[in-house]
Amino acid sequence: MIIDGKIESARLREEIKKEITLIRKKTNRSPGLSVILIGDFAPSQIYVKNKEKNSKEVGINSEVIRYPKEVREEEVLKKIEELNNNKEVSGILVQLPLPDQIDKEKIINAIRPSKDVDGFNPINVGNLASGYKAIVPCTPLGCLLLIKKVEKNLTGKNAVILGRSNLNGKPMAQLLLKENCTVTIVHSKTVNLKEECQKADILIAAVGVANLVKSDWVKKDSIIIDVGINKVGDKLVGDVDFDKVKDKVKAITPVPGGVGPMTIACLLGNTLECFKDR
Ligand code: NAP
Repeated sequence: MIIDGKIESARLREEIKKEITLIRKKTNRSPGLSVILIGDFAPSQIYVKNKEKNSKEVGINSEVIRYPKEVREEEVLKKIEELNNNKEVSGILVQLPLPDQIDKEKIINAIRPSKDVDGFNPINVGNLASGYKAIVPCTPLGCLLLIKKVEKNLTGKNAVILGRSNLNGKPMAQLLLKENCTVTIVHSKTVNLKEECQKADILIAAVGVANLVKSDWVKKDSIIIDVGINKVGDKLVGDVDFDKVKDKVKAITPVPGGVGPMTIACLLGNTLECFKDR
C-alpha cells in the first residue's frame, strides 16, 4: 500500500473548511494565521507561499509579515508581542531557519503558547510530554494520522524513529508512546542502526539523508513513514530507498506526496483549534 498524503491531506482540509464555514455562518468570525518570514531563503519562500494559499482556501485569514535578513531581533520580538495581543490572530508561526543574529530560542519562547501553531514553545513541548492537552508539531501529527490510516490500534507495536530533532523525532516519540507503542529513537551516534531499524513494526525516518534506509533495514509487512526531503540532482527523494523497500512492506509514504502535504493540513487544523480554544 502506498499511503497517499495528497488524498489524506485533501480530505483533512475539506473537513477543516466545512467547520470554518459553519463557524463563520454562526459567528461571522474566522481563524487568523500570521506568518513571519525573514530573509529570502528560497525553500522558506515556497513553504510560506503554500501555507498562505492553503489557509485562504479553507477560510483562514492569513497574513505574511516579511522582514529583510538583516532585521534586528528586537523588531521581530516586538511584532510577536503585538500579534500575541491581537484578538484577530489565532495562530503565529515564525518560518525557520532564522538568520544568525536572531536567537531561535528567544523567538519560540516569545510566541504565546495558546497561539503557537507549530507546537515548538516549551510549554507545548512539556504538555505533550506530560500527556496533557498540547498543540502538537504539524509534521509528527501528520505522520500519526497517516499511520492510523493503515492501522487503527497501535498498542504493543515496536516503533523506531530515525532522528531525534525537536521538530520531528522527539514529538513523534511522544505521540507514539501515547498510542502505547514501544518506542526507540535512533540517531547519528547509534550503534547498529540497521539492526535497530529491523525490529520496527513502524519505522519513521526523519534524518535528511537520501535513501539511507535500504530494503534489508526494514521488517516484512511493516509501516514506513518517510519524513525526509532530499534533493538528488533535480529530483526530490526521501530518507528511504522507496523503489527497493516498497514491495517488502505493508505500507509506505512516497516522497514527494506523502508526509509533506499532511504537514500543511495539520497546520491549518492547529490554527482552527487555537481559534476555537479562544
Ligand atoms: P535535523 O534537525 O537535521 O535532525 C536530523 C536527525 O537525524 C538528527 O537527530 C541526526 O542525529 C539524525 N541523523 C542524521 N544523519 C544520520 C545518519 N546518517 N544516521 C542516523 N541518524 C542520522 O532534521 P529535521 O529537521 O528533523 O528534518 C529531517 C528531515 O525531514 C529533513 O530531510 C527535512 O527536510 C525533512 N522535513 C520534512 C518535513 C515534511 O513536512 N515532510 C518537515 C520537516 C522536516 P544527531 O542528533 O545525532 O545529529
